[in-house]
Amino acid sequence: MSEISLSGISKFYGTFCAVRNVDLKVAQGELVTILGPSGSGKSTLLGLIAGLTTPSEGIISFGSRDVTHLPSRERNVGLVFQSYALFPHMTVFQNIAFPLKVRNYATLQIQAAVTKALQSVRLEHLSDRKPSQLSGGQQQRVALARGFVFEPDILLLDEPLGALDRKLREEVQVELRDLQRNLGITTVLVTHDQEEALSMSDRVMVLDQGEIRQIGTPEEVYLKPANSFVAGFLGTANVLSGTVRNLGGDWTMRLAKGLEVPCGPPPGPDQDVHCTMIIRPENLRLCSPDGHGPTGQVRDAIYLGQTTKHVVESEIGLIVSVGPSHERRSVGENVKLTWNRAATWFV
Ligand code: ADP
Ligand code: MG
Repeated sequence: MSEISLSGISKFYGTFCAVRNVDLKVAQGELVTILGPSGSGKSTLLGLIAGLTTPSEGIISFGSRDVTHLPSRERNVGLVFQSYALFPHMTVFQNIAFPLKVRNYATLQIQAAVTKALQSVRLEHLSDRKPSQLSGGQQQRVALARGFVFEPDILLLDEPLGALDRKLREEVQVELRDLQRNLGITTVLVTHDQEEALSMSDRVMVLDQGEIRQIGTPEEVYLKPANSFVAGFLGTANVLSGTVRNLGGDWTMRLAKGLEVPCGPPPGPDQDVHCTMIIRPENLRLCSPDGHGPTGQVRDAIYLGQTTKHVVESEIGLIVSVGPSHERRSVGENVKLTWNRAATWFV
């Protein structure tokens, strides 16, 4: 069984709390990402699952087995880090064979397992090369193959693609995801890259200052963030605060200056309560100045290829809107801001 369960996990370094009271279940075959800013405790948490350190409080189980105090080598986990840590004097084949040698596999078994792993990462043709004769992406795939060649129950990846450039990283992300699905291996991936987390995960756990801020599917954490930290960390969010009320069936938010803007139904039943809502830039449109909605003036129009990002100075504050590039506006243009009620979310 390779289900992972963390229950009440905390890790203190002296009086400093690096991870606080984390509860997490990762199902068999699931890929869960730990996403958070630098220093939020991601690597510490992964190290606790790997058995590189022991928790100050709480219990870690794999299936029904309590592994809290089990040394790393007895946990049967595959570990891959950002620094590839390949052995420079060994060939690709020898690098991948290393974990099998340590585990005393027979020569024939090693031959078969390494060949299979090489095929999985599409590097059969490079098995005799040394790491220095490989590109960064190829080196990373060797490190990955070495991480799963011994068929671990669990794969733990700490920013494995962080050293790759953007295009290569996106390619390897797709490969890694396919591989993980094919192997059906329970996986925890650490990243600080929100796009990586959203595109690769079954579920995302957002960590901040050692504490879980939200766990959910990529859609949930992006579209329905539990709080303003998650909203802000997972992309740009326009944030509006005011009191909400129901006017003949439609909800509106009255902002500080008395301006009324459309919003969806708030989380609670009460009228006239102070709320904060977010609108994602892609849900906010710029219309001609004779339309309805708050008024603004385009401060910046940033061309991004398929889309253009507009920064608008408006009567509801500085607003960011992202839309198709054929709807690009000019700097200085007067616009109205509109959005769909259903695209607002309270945090
Ligand atoms: P992340 O991987 O999210 O960048 P880490 O888990 O590496 O964060 O670190 C979380 C916090 O714990 C940081 O403030 C870091 O300085 C601290 N920390 C990590 N390891 C140790 C250690 N061995 N001793 C003391 N503090 C540590
Ligand atoms: Mg780290």
